[in-house]
Amino acid sequence: MEKLSNELAYRFRQVEENLKVIQNNISDAAISSGRCVSDIKLLAATKTVPSEVINHVISLGIDCIGENKVQELISKYNTLDLTNCEIHMIGHLQTNKVKQIVGKVNMIQSVDSVRLANEIAKVSLQKSIETDILAEVNIGMETSKSGVDPNELEEFVCQLSEIRGIKVRGIMSIPPICEKKSDIRRMFSQIYRFFIDIRCKKVDNINMDYLSMGMSSDYTEAILEGANIVRIGSLLFGNRIYT
Ligand SMILES: *Cc1c(COP(=O)(O)O)cnc(C)c1O
Repeated sequence: MEKLSNELAYRFRQVEENLKVIQNNISDAAISSGRCVSDIKLLAATKTVPSEVINHVISLGIDCIGENKVQELISKYNTLDLTNCEIHMIGHLQTNKVKQIVGKVNMIQSVDSVRLANEIAKVSLQKSIETDILAEVNIGMETSKSGVDPNELEEFVCQLSEIRGIKVRGIMSIPPICEKKSDIRRMFSQIYRFFIDIRCKKVDNINMDYLSMGMSSDYTEAILEGANIVRIGSLLFGNRIYT
């Protein structure tokens, strides 16, 4: 094996240590919420992270990564070892970029309009596949964030359920930054309620399997409130360096 640069070797060690801490916390939170650690999917949010480091976390057992930007996803795609790892799109997606990623990603978590869903479906059908998606809800109704209005979520999911070529697998959300842990927990619990309400309606052609919420600063609270996908970036990889 080729000798690693000191810098890379250092980064690998850091990521290993961070991962252990995160996995322990996930396990504790899962148990506290009456589930087991295998019920919770840890998605490594890999924006700005080089492929060598991503492949290292995959070798440590991470089986799901998420990218934010189409261009970055495409530029890394062929250098990633995705044999045992899923790749999800988690960032805002423009309709005109859909064709670049359908067939490459296992899931698109950031679907927030019928127009976008129709485009994903169209390209999927052209490739004779069905693409798993999550409906993104803007729980804080922040104008700066994507996602549908929570009051329109159920109607939105019902509209998506009728589109051939996509399959709704659950909900994703990025709640507003809250100073108090009790406030963030309340946000997560509201999202969970929407998730459960829709799941109980048993809409045809959708499976409310996944609730994707919680990031580096609040993933334990998210799990305690019912998340089963947490998306963790900086806590795992260190602070992001944008170039
Ligand atoms: C970057 C990102 C994350 C991870 O954020 P951290 O705070 O670094 O853990 C999660 N979800 C989305 C959609 C992101 O863009």
